[in-house]
Amino acid sequence: LELLAIAGTLYSCAALSSIPHPSSITKPPSFHPRRRPTLALRNDATTSSTTSTSPSALEEQSPSPPPHLPPLNPLLSRIKPSKTVEIFSLVKQMESEGEIVTSLCVGEPDFAPPSCVIDAASEAMAAGKTTYTAVSGTIELRRAISNDLKERKGVYYDPVTEIVVGNGAKQCVYQGLLAACGDGDEVIVPAPYWPSYPEMALLVGATPVILETAVEDGYLIDPDSLDACLRDHPRAKALILCNPSNPTGGVHSTELLTKIARVLESHPNVVILADEIYERLVYTEDGQCASFASLPGMFHRTITVNGFSKSHAMTGFRLGYLAAPQRYAKAVSVLQGQITSCASSVSQAAGVSALTNVDESWLANNVVVMKAKRDYVLRELAKMDGVRVAVPPDGAFYVLPDVSKYYDGDDNRLCLDLLREKKLALVPGESFGAPGTVRLSYATSMDELEIAMAKLREFLEEL
Ligand code: PMP
Repeated sequence: LELLAIAGTLYSCAALSSIPHPSSITKPPSFHPRRRPTLALRNDATTSSTTSTSPSALEEQSPSPPPHLPPLNPLLSRIKPSKTVEIFSLVKQMESEGEIVTSLCVGEPDFAPPSCVIDAASEAMAAGKTTYTAVSGTIELRRAISNDLKERKGVYYDPVTEIVVGNGAKQCVYQGLLAACGDGDEVIVPAPYWPSYPEMALLVGATPVILETAVEDGYLIDPDSLDACLRDHPRAKALILCNPSNPTGGVHSTELLTKIARVLESHPNVVILADEIYERLVYTEDGQCASFASLPGMFHRTITVNGFSKSHAMTGFRLGYLAAPQRYAKAVSVLQGQITSCASSVSQAAGVSALTNVDESWLANNVVVMKAKRDYVLRELAKMDGVRVAVPPDGAFYVLPDVSKYYDGDDNRLCLDLLREKKLALVPGESFGAPGTVRLSYATSMDELEIAMAKLREFLEEL
């Protein structure tokens, strides 16, 4: 899906000589088979720097498409490309044209993985650990995950039958949903949401049901609203609980999670997909983020997803996992066996090292550094007229300020003009189900953050 989004975006980027009109970002780009080779060339730095073939020459070589082509899967017409990927691609396009862009749009730590992780990957390659592993992952990694969850989160998963390692948490969320839901089911997605959730629900044949949350509540789930929503939707089969949240940074306390669990007791058909990928980045006094599966009565109906991208800055390793009672873990393993076999053996070796060799102080330091960045961004946003953060976010590395005072609440236009005029990239809140807001990722250097805040303030003051 991401590749499709990228292909679509690259098409729209390459087809335009300057930043496109907002319409090209809000509408999914149309595909034109003849133009695709041009895009690959233009956006692939290696190819373009080492070949003398011009895009137009390549285009001339491509054969004309026949008048009738087999249609794509109709499912695709229901799916939206990722807005984050679109903006990111625009940034790359501008940079390739020599522009200097400040980007706060990507959810990726700006620090490197710990050196023991890199060493473990190199050693694994040198030692010939370059073959397929068991579908659910190496037993070493599954044991390390099981120990980590038991020690830190107080929840035990059998490494042999209850843990499945996948190619990133994203794949694990998708496979978890695919195992639990299908045609005719509904998936409750609290808004603001990570954009992949509703799209993944659609991909598995289910219908996403958006559960609104209030800005005054820090966008956390209100148990009464959840109860009402579940009563209104007897076909609800899953609830997605992203804690800490992307895009709001909100962290549900143990007390609130317990109330949510109590509501769920009266809706026994609902599975909870607990995406806890940001649980290592919490800025409250106690730094706690309880695992939903550890709450009384919730283990047997919770599918926990976690990974290494955010905690250990291992985004490119593509390593995540799902921990769930055997019934779900087994189903996911069967699905994964048909979809992708296993996660990279080299990444898995790196994952073992991340969980067994990385000093707790390395992780604690990331929290301190990230919290300082959050505090700085919040201080700067507070100085800007018409920019509102009702409740300071306690986790992850995002802030979702309300900017609806500007552009009549059209955050897409605001982001495009901001990118065009000030070369500052933020993601429109509309794509997170939060129109009138923008999402900032502060996982970047302090220098970049200072430039970004200055640009944003200047832009808004000029409006
Ligand atoms: N869940 C959430 C909420 C995320 O923000 C992300 C990454 N942006 C993922 C899952 C996927 O992470 P991974 O890199 O492990 O696939």
